Amino acid sequence: MPELYASVILDLVSDALDRPYQYAIPAHLQGKVQPGCRVLVPFRSRKLGAYVLSLEGEKKVEQPKEILELPDPTPVLSEEMLALSEWLAIHFFNRHIETIRLCLPPAGKGAGALTEEHVRPRVSAAKLLEEAFALKKRALRQALLLEHLAYAGEEGLSWKELRRKTGASRNALRALETKGLLGLQAVRRERIPGRGPTGEGERQLLFTPEQEAAWTEIMEGWGKEKRFFLLHGITGSGKTEIYYRVAAETLEQGRNVLILVPEIALTPQMVAGFRGRFAGKLALLHSSLSPGERYDQWWRVQRGEARVVLGARSAVFAPLQNIGLIVLDEEHEQTYRQDDGPRYHTREVAGWRARYHKAVLLLGSATPSLESYLQASAGSYKTLELKKRVGDRPLPAVQVVDMRYEFHRGNRGIFSRTLLRAMEETLAREEQLILFLNRRGYAGFLLCRSCGYVVQCPSCSVSLTYHMEPEHLQCHLCGFRKAPGFSCPGCGSVYLRNFGLGTQRLEEAVKKIFPGAAVIRMDSDATARKDAHHKLWELFKKKEASVLIGTQMIAKGLDFPHVTLVGVVAADIALNLPDFRAGERTFQLLTQVAGRAGRGEKGGRVIVQTYNPEHYSIKAAAAHDYQKFVEEELKRRKSLHYPPFTQLLLFTCSAPFVELAEESAMELRASLEKEIVLDQLEQFIGPAPAPLPKIRDLYRFQILFKVNNPANYNPIIRKVIWELRSKMKGTRITVDLNPMVML
Ligand code: ADP
Ligand code: ZN
Ligand code: ZN
Repeated sequence: MPELYASVILDLVSDALDRPYQYAIPAHLQGKVQPGCRVLVPFRSRKLGAYVLSLEGEKKVEQPKEILELPDPTPVLSEEMLALSEWLAIHFFNRHIETIRLCLPPAGKGAGALTEEHVRPRVSAAKLLEEAFALKKRALRQALLLEHLAYAGEEGLSWKELRRKTGASRNALRALETKGLLGLQAVRRERIPGRGPTGEGERQLLFTPEQEAAWTEIMEGWGKEKRFFLLHGITGSGKTEIYYRVAAETLEQGRNVLILVPEIALTPQMVAGFRGRFAGKLALLHSSLSPGERYDQWWRVQRGEARVVLGARSAVFAPLQNIGLIVLDEEHEQTYRQDDGPRYHTREVAGWRARYHKAVLLLGSATPSLESYLQASAGSYKTLELKKRVGDRPLPAVQVVDMRYEFHRGNRGIFSRTLLRAMEETLAREEQLILFLNRRGYAGFLLCRSCGYVVQCPSCSVSLTYHMEPEHLQCHLCGFRKAPGFSCPGCGSVYLRNFGLGTQRLEEAVKKIFPGAAVIRMDSDATARKDAHHKLWELFKKKEASVLIGTQMIAKGLDFPHVTLVGVVAADIALNLPDFRAGERTFQLLTQVAGRAGRGEKGGRVIVQTYNPEHYSIKAAAAHDYQKFVEEELKRRKSLHYPPFTQLLLFTCSAPFVELAEESAMELRASLEKEIVLDQLEQFIGPAPAPLPKIRDLYRFQILFKVNNPANYNPIIRKVIWELRSKMKGTRITVDLNPMVML
């Protein structure tokens, strides 16, 4: 039967219209319209864009309308991307059009974006500064421009950047050009964006025996069934070196490489390493690219010019063909989960693509996620272990300080005496130290400063969240609520307090105690600007400050040889997030943070302050014992039916009125219960107010569904939600499969 019909998805974000529609292919477009093509179709009284999913021989509707136009001669979505977007829609409960958009070329212009104007000095830096000085009174902007140029060196700067930095006008630039101080030049912008140290060249290290063993196993897995590896290597054990070598080998065999990292800005060393080895073949894809840059990079990959793609989350959709290797570094990181717009987990998408291309998949981590650990135990991944640091450098000693004891000794300050003394010594030796404080929980929790007791939900085993007005404690999974009480249920003391501490307050405390010390604070406030991160990092690296205060963003990737002390100021904050993953997160954070110390010759020590020194996450992290942690945590997850033993679907109902949000959530649960016959161990929990109960004027309620195989229920759930949306006007409902953060 000739395929005269096309099944398409409309290019329109709408729940009601997010399903395939059939159109007829007019005679003049037959043989030209292909799956993956963009077409224009009549819809109601409009002309809409749409994407062709498949061609069909059979008519499915009475009188299908005809496709109007075929704007591009070739498909914009490959066969792979069509299949991937369909899977993403079903598996992660997304709108199909949104998953299609993930795979499309970025919007933007080509040629225009490829060139930019560059300003180069024509005279020496000294001469520029001299001229700048002379101009300062009359023409401040011109003077500033010259100063910036003087400090930029012979390379010069882009006009765009100079203009941004100085506010100088085009006329000012021309005037200086006429004077012969500088020259203007149009350059083709093939530079690879993202700063950092430059490449190290093709330096090939002799593998350690452990690296050699891992390498051999990977080589043996090549082209075979067992191609998925979990590279479990402690910090500094040389995982990155293995990525380099396997990537080079993959290219050698004529296939392409996809390297994924949690965040490009946090991995300057790795970017430099890949750039040094694969410069001309490398494309960087990440969120701080300008639209023009993103466009260039994407098309370099599409055209096959770039054969190694290095990027964060969304780079997993790079149009790379013939993939032979996918690396996911720090595979446990929660940033791999996309929580906004179309949902997905990068690890799962990477797995999908690796299967599609029969590529090697290499997941690397010092603290593998429980999900991956369980997969490996089940035999889906092969575990490769690196248990030693390169050069046999020891892991730093981790000392856990019991803050309850400090409290009993009358110390009400932020720092224990142990940490204070260590800071003093470090500063006296002119070495550097890092103080680590992960972001304060979005809401507080009650902690007894005398015995460390934290009030928890009796059924969900997560900390209850403290609310001020009216004062109460609440579980954000099941909605359980209770009064805070005056005394500690654990020890009867009256020191049950709302616990919280911010980086700013920490900075003030340090400056007060050590007035002479230069302090750098790195948190999302301090690094909101695009390049701020890199600059602060450079400053600290150059030893222009001796104390670095930071949130989890400093816990990864950076290598500071002069840091000999790391202090974790309040491990309890991570430990008591209202999330069943709090224990895992704490273990990961402490391990990563400890990995920052003792990188250099001088070794290092780590001090962890906590009111819960007996907690297995803290004890295992202090002992560098992943195995012990995993065993405890798996036991706990299993008994409470949490992932990885079950899957979670989180439904969030948000509405402008609290009553509407709550009522919608109750309706939703009732309808789901009516439609779904629960399997063994499957369970609905809630509704409960979300941990962030109100965002942008919308009140939020959640329902948790512990489910064995969520994709099975996809059609039912879509239908229920669709009906509810039209019934409860004004309510937004989102579905999250296995969210990493239960916000
Ligand atoms: P990881 O990624 O596991 O934290 P890296 O790959 O960054 O570890 O390695 C840590 C340090 O050891 C780096 O400075 C790296 O250059 C060095 N290194 C790695 N492998 C070797 C080796 N075989 N011989 C010498 N130095 C190595
Ligand atoms: Zn609960
Ligand atoms: Zn107590």
